[in-house]
Amino acid sequence: MTIIEKPLPIPNALSQPYWDAAHQGRLVLQCCASCNTVRHYPRLLCTQCYSDQYTWQESLAKGKIHSWTVAHHAFHVAFKEDLPYTLVTVDLNEGVRAMGVWRSAQQPQIGMPVQGKFLLSEGRADLQFNALASS
Ligand SMILES: [Zn+2]
Repeated sequence: MTIIEKPLPIPNALSQPYWDAAHQGRLVLQCCASCNTVRHYPRLLCTQCYSDQYTWQESLAKGKIHSWTVAHHAFHVAFKEDLPYTLVTVDLNEGVRAMGVWRSAQQPQIGMPVQGKFLLSEGRADLQFNALASS
């Protein structure tokens, strides 16, 4: 039986710092050096002022669920064994949206506070989210 490898992201000059941090278990976000607008995913220009100057800021990876879905069909055959799995889009506290795999035993709900964390395995850095207990 042929084992099909899961595809890996191919970093470019813009996204390499993101992936370098991800492989250290850290979520970093681009921040415009001119107007401080945070953006995610990495882009060349600021969406607010079109500056091409930016810095990277560390995120606590906390936010609230914007939406979620359960995948029943693999977009790539290598992910078929993972089915079904739940994906969430999260409005991070920094004001940008990120997507990840849902790992909590709880049913995801829109607006639910969550904590993101990278799962590092086999050269992969997959962003995952868990329910954050409210206090
Ligand atoms: Zn800007």
